[in-house]
This record gives sequence, C-alpha cells and structure tokens, in this order.
Amino acid sequence: MAWQCSSRSNAGLVENLRRAKLVQNVVAETAMKLVDRANFVLDKDRERAYEDSPQSIGFDATISAPHMHAMALDLIVPVLQARQDRLVKVLDVGSGSGYLAAALHHAVQQQQQGGKVFAIDYLEPLTEMTKRNLAKEGLQEAVAVDTRDGWKGWAEHAPFDAIHVGAAASMLPDPLVQQLAPGGVMVIPVGVFDQELLLVTKSQDGSSHTTKSITGVRYVPLIPVDPE
Ligand code: SAH
Repeated sequence: MAWQCSSRSNAGLVENLRRAKLVQNVVAETAMKLVDRANFVLDKDRERAYEDSPQSIGFDATISAPHMHAMALDLIVPVLQARQDRLVKVLDVGSGSGYLAAALHHAVQQQQQGGKVFAIDYLEPLTEMTKRNLAKEGLQEAVAVDTRDGWKGWAEHAPFDAIHVGAAASMLPDPLVQQLAPGGVMVIPVGVFDQELLLVTKSQDGSSHTTKSITGVRYVPLIPVDPE
C-alpha cells in the first residue's frame, strides 16, 4: 500500500498518503506539503524524490520513507497542539537529510510561532548535509543543528515536548527519557534484529513514563558512540 503512494510531485505524494490514511493529522499533512522532499535526497535521486520509499544518503544513512515520516509526525503533532502554556521544543535525533527537522519546524510553527526544533547527528558530514538541505528551504536559521551523540540527547536545551529518533536504538536511551518534558512524547525505533517503533509518553508530573508499541519497523542502527 505504501508504495502506491508514490507520485511525480510533492503535493501528489502527500495527497496519496492522506488518501491512504498514512497521514491523518492535518497539521502533519500541511507540514509535509510545505517541505519539498527533492531538496533532501541526493542529487542523483531527485527523479525518485516523490517515491514512497527510503533512499540512501551515504554514510550508511537513509532518508526514511515518506510514510514513516508521516507516521512520526502524526504521533508528535497532537502533543504540540495540546501545549499552549509555553514555547515548544522538539529534538530530532539522527537528523540525516534534515527532512523531518524541516517538517517538524512547520508543524511547530502552525501551532505556535517561536517554538523551536533542534536537530543532531553524530557524523559531521551528515550535520553538514542537514544544514545544507535546510538552507534550500530557507530554514538554516530556524532549526538549530549540532554534531552530537544521540544516545545522550542535547541536555542544554531540554526539556523537549517531543523527541524523534531516526535510527534504531538497542535499548531505550535513559538520557532521552530524562530530557522529555512532562506530558512529552518520544517516537523511537527500538531493537536490533526485530525492531519496534515505540511511543514513549512522559507522565504529566514528569515522574514516570509509559511505552506503547506502534508497529514493526526497519531502521539503521543508532550507533554506540561512547560505550561506557
Ligand atoms: N531521519 C533522517 C535520517 C535517518 S538515517 C532522515 O530521514 O533523513 C539515521 C541517522 O541516524 C543517520 O543520519 C545516522 O548518522 C544517525 N545516527 C546513527 N547513530 C547516531 C548517534 N549515536 N547519534 C546521532 N545520530 C546517529
């Protein structure tokens, strides 16, 4: 079904995802329409940019399939919508192409001018790619990008209302759970061979969290940078 969402235009791709109910939240759908996926694939793959499939971006990384980005946005947007008391902050771990950081930025801005997206990857060439691709969309100032270990998150900017992890962790990284704001959510693939996409929700008083399995998935691994 996912493959059938492929199109020859960005608008067509998102429309097909909406029809297939693979993107359901209208804020998520609008965010995806505002980001041209062709700006986030390698130049040689521009003709395939609107296929609903992952594509290699080098360095053992891939830009996730559009229906996976859609699923992540659908899970994250409701939390942003509920948060009206202060500016929201969102962390994208394993930003790679930068596509989801861009889409998250637009999702945040639809709720709240001034909310902010932070994006990290552990490889400098990939954070350079994130920045370069965000610049094509005029978002180089809007999104904060840094080279750091995703297992550790970005404590200086915590707490985050939402965290997205774009690579599969062998276990749930404690620092990321700690960096979630009360009521915040994390979307993270967990597992080595059999991976599951988990939705982690921090309790309203911030003292505990629950996890819910969304679906089986296949992501590249979240690399252990500093195993101690
Ligand atoms: N979400 C991005 C990239 C997905 S590929 C997109 O859709 O384009 C997974 C990314 O996770 C890669 O860019 C890889 O470099 C990054 N990654 C792997 N291990 C990491 C770690 N320990 N910390 C931060 N990023 C990591």
